[in-house]
Amino acid sequence: MLESAKKLLQSHFGYESFRVGQEQAITQVFEGHNSICVMPTGGGKSICYQIPALVMEGTTIVVSPLISLMKDQVDALLAAGIPAAYINSSLDFDEVRETLMDVQRGAIKLLYIAPERLDSEMFLNELQGVHVPLIAVDEAHCISQWGHDFRPSYRLISRMTELFPNNPTVLALTATATPQVREDICRILNIEEQHTIMTGFERPNLTFSVIRGQDRERFVKEYVVKNDKEAGIIYAATRKTVDSVYEMLLKKGIKAAKYHAGMPDHERKSGQERFLNDEVTVMVATNAFGMGIDKSNIRFVIHYQLPKNMESYYQEAGRAGRDGLPSECIVLYASQDVQTQRFLIDQAQDPSRIPGELVKLQAMVDYCHTESCLQQFIIHYFGDTAAETCGHCGSCIDDRESLDVTKDVQMVLSCVIRMGQKFGKVMTAQVLTGSRNKKVLDFKFDKLSTYGILKHQNSKEVSNLIEFMISQELLAVEQGSFPTIYVPAGGRDVLLGKRQVLRKGAVVTKQIAANDP
Ligand code: ADP
Repeated sequence: MLESAKKLLQSHFGYESFRVGQEQAITQVFEGHNSICVMPTGGGKSICYQIPALVMEGTTIVVSPLISLMKDQVDALLAAGIPAAYINSSLDFDEVRETLMDVQRGAIKLLYIAPERLDSEMFLNELQGVHVPLIAVDEAHCISQWGHDFRPSYRLISRMTELFPNNPTVLALTATATPQVREDICRILNIEEQHTIMTGFERPNLTFSVIRGQDRERFVKEYVVKNDKEAGIIYAATRKTVDSVYEMLLKKGIKAAKYHAGMPDHERKSGQERFLNDEVTVMVATNAFGMGIDKSNIRFVIHYQLPKNMESYYQEAGRAGRDGLPSECIVLYASQDVQTQRFLIDQAQDPSRIPGELVKLQAMVDYCHTESCLQQFIIHYFGDTAAETCGHCGSCIDDRESLDVTKDVQMVLSCVIRMGQKFGKVMTAQVLTGSRNKKVLDFKFDKLSTYGILKHQNSKEVSNLIEFMISQELLAVEQGSFPTIYVPAGGRDVLLGKRQVLRKGAVVTKQIAANDP
């Protein structure tokens, strides 16, 4: 079967050889093992189910949440001479009927359906009697509450598998799977862990960087003008910011489009088309833009505001450089964005998800403060601890001198402990810099020996030091109704003098305070 798969790869898709992971995924499907295929965006997941669909008898069902992509995929398959069809809310009743009839008479090799179809008993009844060798679950993270795009209908997929007497093989595909999400997918879709195919999350052509504390408007203007021939996406967290960045770029004479959920459908569509057809170079958008966008020559993805978590970040940033050419992924970090994201998380419909979302947000903040390789940080986050440093991200090329900040770190830790490990970052920074804020005085923190111990730095510098310490696991955050910081094991080692802390380009307190901690 693998031989015919290879032939099909050349004859129908025009590729010489399989990419890493594709052959393994296809083989496992042929062997009838439910499998999960975790590959980065652009890694080539579609082939993993399209080729088995052609080789195996019957109709493969592909569950996909991306209505816009469904049509593109089906069009591409039809153009390659492969009988494919889709059923989603864009079809009217007669079109659905007609497609189902084609499926029932065995004329369709790949049927794409939106997950919401599974809610309909009537629809499922129509499928009974169809021979289905394989069910491909695209964007499989949608099945998990831990994923960044949970779709309740995805939970019905396991029920659909019971509909067919031949017990179809299930192939789950996703680009963003933390260990927790992967576990969920495997449990719900009955996939054994050994049948996980996970290939290189590294995107060596992407250069990651984080820019902190700079005038963002100016940065974006200068960057876009300097790269005016290149296509890029600028993501913002709110519609309002999308509008204002877009206006700013237009005023600068830059050809830009915008995209967010508050715009009328036709405007969104036309902006998207103009971007895809290279009529404009820059797309300014919220995270509503991009799922299923196949544009290979995106040279930069700038996050104007902090993304809500690493999963979304890597997926959005990963839209750069799908053609393999060098591309940049930049986060512009400002601490007030953490508040914006917290606010957005608090607005979420399901309160039980809030604590988990806050933990994920913290990982994103850590990313913005780490001095380790950024690519490696991402790969570690997704559960692959073997990743090497990339050698070209913002951290890897940061050649500022590393200074010993052990003393300052000890002062912060000591202050956190004296404050009872019950307060947040802002309050801690205020105590350390000797603020006369009412709350500081009410709690009598001005009487602590650590009060004002870092007053030679401003509160922003001290806040940055605290963020840095969190990213290094010298401090930890307890997520409650408001986040508080405490000293974990790593921090205790520093307090006990067992560990030295180095930081690049750090502000170091020269004057050693009288009350050495
Ligand atoms: P994903 O779904 O993982 O984001 P796609 O399936 O859309 O990725 O594939 C990304 C790109 O890679 C597409 O343009 C596809 O045609 C191409 N591609 C996939 N497999 C191969 C291969 N074996 N050789 C060359 N190109 C491939």
